Amino acid sequence: MDDLDRTDGGPRSVIVVGAGIVGLSTAWFLQEHGIRVTVVDREGIAAGSSWGNAGWLSPGLAIPLNEPAVLRYGLRSLLDRQAPLHIPPSSDVRLWTFLTRFAANCTNRSWTRAVRANLPFNDECLEAFDLLTSGGVEAPTVDAPITAMFETAEQSSTLIAELDRLGDAGQKVTWTQLTGSELREHFPQVTDRIGAGIRLDGQRYVDPGRFVESLARAVVSRGGTIRHRFEVTAIRRHERAYTVQSANGRTVNANAVVVATGAWLGGLARKWGVRVPVRAGRGYSFTVPTDQPVPGPMYLPDIRVACTPYQGGLRVAGTMEFRRPDDPLYPARVNAIIASARPLLKGLRWDERTDTWVGSRPVSADGRPVIGATAAPGLYVAGGHGMWGLTHGPVTGRLLAEQIVTGKQPETLRPFDPLR
Ligand SMILES: Cc1cc2nc3c(=O)[nH]c(=O)nc-3n(C[C@H](O)[C@H](O)[C@H](O)COP(=O)(O)OP(=O)(O)OC[C@H]3O[C@@H](n4cnc5c(N)ncnc54)[C@H](O)[C@@H]3O)c2cc1C
Repeated sequence: MDDLDRTDGGPRSVIVVGAGIVGLSTAWFLQEHGIRVTVVDREGIAAGSSWGNAGWLSPGLAIPLNEPAVLRYGLRSLLDRQAPLHIPPSSDVRLWTFLTRFAANCTNRSWTRAVRANLPFNDECLEAFDLLTSGGVEAPTVDAPITAMFETAEQSSTLIAELDRLGDAGQKVTWTQLTGSELREHFPQVTDRIGAGIRLDGQRYVDPGRFVESLARAVVSRGGTIRHRFEVTAIRRHERAYTVQSANGRTVNANAVVVATGAWLGGLARKWGVRVPVRAGRGYSFTVPTDQPVPGPMYLPDIRVACTPYQGGLRVAGTMEFRRPDDPLYPARVNAIIASARPLLKGLRWDERTDTWVGSRPVSADGRPVIGATAAPGLYVAGGHGMWGLTHGPVTGRLLAEQIVTGKQPETLRPFDPLR
């Protein structure tokens, strides 16, 4: 290689494995430091969960998944095939090891630790989006409250308790309780079954596929290279350099590597000392035409469904299904989402739905993402953001790029150390 090290010790060139929001954000922020980047993906841009997600940029709702209540809910769900949380019967030992470890982390202590770790991330995540959009990423982020809706005021008490606990842990979030009729004044889609709501201000949303594609274009226009259909099967370390090799024998060399492969993170990272398991928490989404415009994101917490205005219609997203990321899409999960949401929303043409999609949230066993250096110098990982990887992707990229360039772990990334 012609350019192994810069005089300041940082790398000149980096390969990023994974062209999702996390990998591409890391590539873009590395370019800010003058580093040459090559992004490789086994399929292409936004081929993983960065495409069909709900598109919320919602620091006020970035609640880690390992809440104590999830455990009780999960056990109940095992008996209900229609439940939004779905753990199919499986003999996959790794999955059960993961779920046991995840369950052990569903404690107040572990959850509060994850909440506190997220605080600086939540503070800075929207600003990181602004850096991208003011630096050439041509996809808008839209300011809008997220409105949670419930059948009764009592049902809203669980979310209120969560928001209170987030507030106690230091998370700034402004919210207002609404009646059913106040909701209906604003949202023509809300049926009479909805009796109460909570509006969270200061949030945003995006068209996530469009955003990530635009981010990829920005990386290329700044001199980066993106290689499609490059499934990394081996990462080899040489003296101060790496070679990544694809399934069909192609290779790329650079001084450093970032593995940002979402729900597939475990496979490549384990060899380099990363022991925090990351598994796929699969979610489904689809787009439905609406009779009237939808004014902003709607959240139906009791059925775990998120709805977002999307290309003139509504993107409906839900379900958490612990299966392998490459398993097929199960139409029964889509039908379960529709059956649960249909009585609560009107003016949606469910039968004309398009874009039916399944994607894998990269869920870590302790509710915290995995970001930073591995046991091999120059090899980094970034992933495991679970439900909030879109919101936290750009800030992850900004801070990881800083660590790669300076060799120093930013304080904010300490709780996310991959070797914890
Ligand atoms: C239904 C649903 C709704 C969601 N809603 C939201 C939301 O509203 N807000 C929010 O913040 N988050 C949301 N999320 C979570 C968010 O989508 C993810 O956390 C985020 O997209 C993860 O990004 P990533 O870049 O880590 O992974 P991905 O986007 O999955 O990217 C990983 C990439 O790595 C590639 N890859 C894998 N293995 C290899 C390999 N060996 N070689 C080369 N390439 C490889 C894949 O092809 C893929 O393109 C949602 C998720 C789902 C499923």
